[in-house]
Amino acid sequence: MAGTSATVDVLSDIDENIGEKDDGKKAVCLLVLGMAGSGKTTFVQRLAAHLHAGQCPPYLINLDPAVHDIPFPANIDIRDTVNYKEVMKQYGLGPNGAIVTSLNLFATRFDQVMHFIEKKQHNHRYVLIDTPGQIEVFTWSASGSIITEALASSFPCVVVYVMDTSRSVSPVTFMSNMLYACSILYKTKLPFIVVMNKTDIIEESFAVEWMNDFEAFQDALSQERSYVSNLTRSMSLVLDEFYSNLRVVGVSSVTGSGLGELLVKVQDAAEEYDRDYLPEYERLRKQLMEAKSEKQQEQLERLSKDLGVVRMTSASVTEASNVGGPGDLIMTRGDPDDAAAADSDTDDVDHSKVEESKERDAFGSFLRERRKVVEVRNRKSSLTEGP
Ligand code: GDP
Ligand code: MG
Repeated sequence: MAGTSATVDVLSDIDENIGEKDDGKKAVCLLVLGMAGSGKTTFVQRLAAHLHAGQCPPYLINLDPAVHDIPFPANIDIRDTVNYKEVMKQYGLGPNGAIVTSLNLFATRFDQVMHFIEKKQHNHRYVLIDTPGQIEVFTWSASGSIITEALASSFPCVVVYVMDTSRSVSPVTFMSNMLYACSILYKTKLPFIVVMNKTDIIEESFAVEWMNDFEAFQDALSQERSYVSNLTRSMSLVLDEFYSNLRVVGVSSVTGSGLGELLVKVQDAAEEYDRDYLPEYERLRKQLMEAKSEKQQEQLERLSKDLGVVRMTSASVTEASNVGGPGDLIMTRGDPDDAAAADSDTDDVDHSKVEESKERDAFGSFLRERRKVVEVRNRKSSLTEGP
């Protein structure tokens, strides 16, 4: 697997340079993704503590609007900008809808987050980004793409896919997890590290063996009787190529074991970003810029206009040191007059737009629709409750 041979050399490099961060190199962004309960937040906390202990404090960002408490001191916290409960109430949304909407709202302010990171990156070797509990909210939404692309266009950016090793002991579950990881790799195209978390419960060796030894995985599968095992058998052939280039590391976010090895892989992945991702990104950007700049500008303007409906009492994303605290309600419902004005020009949708641009438009309409529903419902309930 990639990255293992350089283990000793890179480790000493990290130890010598820890905390010095005057090398002119850009901070490395670690985008932490994984299924709900895989241990993303605990992992971010433990890695942050590990880096602090090595005199190399990271810059910490929380993108989970629905989390109650975070066990690390976030420099930027989505909850300071968007009040998830308020979004739920005002737009009549359930928990998942409100998380998606909150993230969309935050994505429209992500240029400010980028500004903070740019400003502070000289003091930090790493930026750790914790994401919402439900992975699909981030990986398959327009806002997830906007945030990922913004980060990856300016910083060495690495996806850290956290999986719950103790819940992957069945070959079918393991395969599902790997397919998900694979789909994220192909979607983001970013350097990728699989963190097999919770190794204090079970060592990751069984899973590593399955990845390295096709026969071993087939043996494990032969115990399975379900029809899914046939599919899994075929899929494992497909995944062989994916495994061969994958960085895997066993970690316990509870005990902190494996974090040293993880940092070695991060360094290797950051080098891959410079070597492979960045030149390809620059090439594509040049092409796209020429073809799309006008269209994109138009889309962004449309999105801003739609979002004008949603008033934020403060239009700014704030950094932890400058604000009161996570409980602040910053997002409020818009003025009905503004809503009417914004409603007036929504019928001229150009169907040739790319998928994500359509999604942005749809988001504006969605907010307006939801608000109408809630308004009607409130009106009805006030009539029935009336004297
Ligand atoms: P998230 O939803 O991915 O952010 O997951 P959390 O960080 O909230 O963790 C989910 C649960 O897994 C919590 O009960 C954690 O205490 C537990 N957990 C996380 N990492 C580990 C680990 O390395 N070992 C063990 N035993 N439990 C863990
Ligand atoms: Mg979490």
